[in-house]
Amino acid sequence: MSVSFELLGTDGLARRGRLATAHGTVETPAFMPVGTAGTVKAMMPQSVAGTGAEIVLGNTFHLMLRPGAERIAALGGLHKFMDWPRAILTDSGGFQVMSLAELRQLDRDGVTFRSPVDGTQYRLTPERSIEIQRLLDADITMSFDECTTWPVAEDAAAHSMRLSMEWAARGKRAFVERPGYGLFGIVQGSIFPALRSESVQALLKIGFDGYAIGGLAVGEGQERMFATLDTTLPLLPADRPRYLMGVGRPADMVGAVKRGIDMFDCVMPTRAGRTAQAFTRRGELNLRNARHRDDPRPIDEQCGCPACQSHSRAYLHHLIRSGEILGAMLLTWHNLQYYQDIMRGLREAIAGGALGHWIAAFEDEQARGDVPPL
Ligand SMILES: [Zn+2]
Repeated sequence: MSVSFELLGTDGLARRGRLATAHGTVETPAFMPVGTAGTVKAMMPQSVAGTGAEIVLGNTFHLMLRPGAERIAALGGLHKFMDWPRAILTDSGGFQVMSLAELRQLDRDGVTFRSPVDGTQYRLTPERSIEIQRLLDADITMSFDECTTWPVAEDAAAHSMRLSMEWAARGKRAFVERPGYGLFGIVQGSIFPALRSESVQALLKIGFDGYAIGGLAVGEGQERMFATLDTTLPLLPADRPRYLMGVGRPADMVGAVKRGIDMFDCVMPTRAGRTAQAFTRRGELNLRNARHRDDPRPIDEQCGCPACQSHSRAYLHHLIRSGEILGAMLLTWHNLQYYQDIMRGLREAIAGGALGHWIAAFEDEQARGDVPPL
């Protein structure tokens, strides 16, 4: 029943695992490319798989507005609709609804909001969020929660977290158990250890197939994020996957894996790819920069992606300066490849008991910075 998680090995607090879903297995630590509106922007689905991704994230909020969850269900579900036969995790819509600010009305039962697409009024409750995710055919469904804002006072964070825990219990009751399909709860409580602990206890009482850490990467900074992981992760059961939502930069992910996180999602590699930014073993590059104009070298000579295998920095610079779509496609591909390479490296290092050495080499390369100009 449900999704199953096998812990294959550990190195310190870091974990090497395998998540089995209705649409295939996911080796962890894993990075999930974000496919907001039924597409990982600027990528063909086969190319996403080619980078090594085994799971992508879909977005309840965007898909319910357009083209609509019932329509996708009638067309055979999101896997078929977007031609992604592997695993899909959907977020609950909570994060996007909360960010609508004046367009939404929050009450204890749920949220009423106007579509930013066409102004139509919608109602999202924990039950409806779970139903939409079932219609999409998500292998992993996320609890509907209120993403606590930042910065936030402790009493406001407590109120928000307790509402999310009520909604988590309602979502669990609404979730239809099926083999290979799972429901994850989301730990809230901002940066306050007592609230995080209370949230974990509430979720454990309800019981979930996996546990996500929400409410981080919202501006609190890496130090507070790691401190929150340090106090929260030891409270979670070892035999369930742990997902850090919305993270992050390469160094954030490496530090989180070291602390015991198994799964990530972030728009950063795809969004950066559309704004001329490349993540590399030796830090971040902006290909728009004039220093690349005459450079025949690839972004990273050790990278196996098409941008690095076939194209020079000079060509990528030209594409970006000319506003050519291919520039966004190639840089997105490179960034997703690098993120998957990091995950592969982490998995091998944990399995081999060499994580400390791997992280030292990673930090050393990042600190060296880009190759000097020719
Ligand atoms: Zn590359």
